[in-house]
Amino acid sequence: MNSSLATARSEARGVLALVRPAIRTLAAYASATWEPALERLHANENPWRLPDDPTQAGLNRYPEPQPNALETALAQLYGVNARQLLAGRGSDEGIDLLTRALCEAGRDAVVVCPPTFAMYEMAARIQGARVIEVPLLREGGFALDEAALRRVASPAVKLVWLCSPNNPTGHCLDPRSVETLLRQLAGRSLVVIDEAYAEFSAGPSWLTRLEEFQNLVVLRTLSKAYALAGARVGAVVGPEALIEVLRRVRPPYAIPTATSETVIAALNGEALAVARARIATLCVERERLRSGLARSPLISRVWPSQANFLLVESETPALVVSAARAAGFLLRDLSAGTRTAGAIRITVGTPEQNQRLLAVLNAGSGAQ
Ligand code: PMP
Repeated sequence: MNSSLATARSEARGVLALVRPAIRTLAAYASATWEPALERLHANENPWRLPDDPTQAGLNRYPEPQPNALETALAQLYGVNARQLLAGRGSDEGIDLLTRALCEAGRDAVVVCPPTFAMYEMAARIQGARVIEVPLLREGGFALDEAALRRVASPAVKLVWLCSPNNPTGHCLDPRSVETLLRQLAGRSLVVIDEAYAEFSAGPSWLTRLEEFQNLVVLRTLSKAYALAGARVGAVVGPEALIEVLRRVRPPYAIPTATSETVIAALNGEALAVARARIATLCVERERLRSGLARSPLISRVWPSQANFLLVESETPALVVSAARAAGFLLRDLSAGTRTAGAIRITVGTPEQNQRLLAVLNAGSGAQ
């Protein structure tokens, strides 16, 4: 055996050791064979299309059991190999699949770093996994607490959830802290970095470091930057051996035909150019909104952001939320949260929406 093959095999063994034994040995569901050139009398489908069926493939037919065409398009978008990527119904499904495949109920644990996206904890609780909180250090700009992360490391911890840029703070984690953690946990826990908002940040993606760390998994989504939240498509990207296991856990025919076709069309050159121009506009608007909000008498602090939202703090959060609501805007009120006291999350809108929101929150102050 040549040495790179031997290394790949031993790395695969390392990551597979983190998978629940029952899942490691689970046989894949045998879907009806996928041979589009032949006539399908093997899957108990209806032979006629709906009169107004908008899809190319036909909604009367099951989609491709494994969404290869979609995964190839996503792999190209993210610059990875399709065998390293699994598409799911939003990154929410990736969070769920990873938790179910790795955490033995009543025995294993996950680490979360609040304030952060709540679904990591939700998925663990649904699975019956223990949740260990290692809060971000607010006064250090929501930095990772490296010492506390070291203290909680144990064989029971299968997943460490990081989010960068983080929801709801908007900041990117210090890459040196993340790298230290990846090295400390090599062969012991998977470190998942949720990059739902990566397109709005200047820093490099952790996708570029996948070859270096066998315990690194990255989550991406089309819901934010690519304006496809309604399509529900996200991706888990990580070691091939792990992705292969997750394919067996994901239900067959997981991605609806209409979704795959819509997304593949939205990832062509012209549509991508539009998406990229809009991302650039949102980043400019984010900074304009940030400086306008900093002048509002209702707002005491605006945190810097690398995402498409801003976390602000107020002495009177209820007043901010109700003033915005009276003008027709919904804001995310986080002020009751123990780690987000007085905080509100505001999504960057169109230039015109941002202007109107600033006018409301600066009313009477002379500033906008
Ligand atoms: N991760 C983060 C950090 C998020 O903020 C969200 C959505 N709010 C998601 C994942 C889930 O996104 P989706 O399922 O639409 O991909």
